[in-house]
Amino acid sequence: VADTAPAAGTVLLGRYELGGLLGRGASAKVYLARDLLTGRSVAIKSFPNPRAGGGAGVGVNAAIEREACILRRLRHRHVVRLHEILATRKKVHFVLDLAGGGELFSLVDASGRMTEDLARHYFRQLVSAVRYCHARGVYHRDIKPENLLLDEGGALKVADFGLGAVGGGGGGGGGEGLRHTMCGTPAYVAPEILSRKGYEPGKVDIWSCGVVLFVLAAGYLPFNDASLVNMYRKIYAGRFRCPGWFSPALRDLLRRVLDPDPSARIDADGIVAHPWFRHGGEEDLGGL
Ligand code: ADP
Ligand code: MG
Repeated sequence: VADTAPAAGTVLLGRYELGGLLGRGASAKVYLARDLLTGRSVAIKSFPNPRAGGGAGVGVNAAIEREACILRRLRHRHVVRLHEILATRKKVHFVLDLAGGGELFSLVDASGRMTEDLARHYFRQLVSAVRYCHARGVYHRDIKPENLLLDEGGALKVADFGLGAVGGGGGGGGGEGLRHTMCGTPAYVAPEILSRKGYEPGKVDIWSCGVVLFVLAAGYLPFNDASLVNMYRKIYAGRFRCPGWFSPALRDLLRRVLDPDPSARIDADGIVAHPWFRHGGEEDLGGL
């Protein structure tokens, strides 16, 4: 069942002229497009329209609606912004800010890593976005390299709230209680998700941010193994080793972020107050 791609040059609603494919995920394809009204470039995330039938069904519809509902709540310099939603017969399109600078992980050097200062620069932007989302009761639950993009000016943009959850008084169901949905990507997933005893979604995002930080500064994953079961064991035990070049302050922060006990794990406010995070001056704290 080939879900046919709209041809480049197609104009949606007389306004958005589609260009090439920027990327694809499990649920959608993302295209470059030109807003003919403003002349600006945007990104269009296209989902097959569940109302078109073809076996998609209600669950898919609910997922698209939840992602839209989350994105509408968020307006932050480091979160991809939703401009509008277009529905055609076969597709639902999200018109998004273009993150045209590629993936954050394209900035690593030949050894696959970046300096601690550069890692701090992007980690601050990531934590500022995550802290903002958590303060608004929004949890991403799928923080990983493919969902961390850059705009043309080089600023980090958190994308893809497709697995996001809304807490603090309903919306996503479950209020502030524990979650049970398995989500995330194995190497970035928190141990309490693996144990299936229920988890707080905020703590899970913090864990994934820690894995991202480790990867940026080390050039490899903190928890890895040829066997998935062994990798899960390491995650579960919070067993990782920092490379020799990590500073003591970075090691200390990572120990607190990658704490397998979610109740002992540092939160976004704690990260912002940590010496490693603050090192380098207050002027660069990105409005935190
Ligand atoms: P899915 O929910 O299917 O995973 P994503 O929202 O993650 O879809 O988008 C898939 C890919 O498309 C991303 O990994 C990224 O490469 C690209 N992409 C997504 N949003 C944008 C954007 N706003 N600007 C540029 N590229 C994007
Ligand atoms: Mg994605």
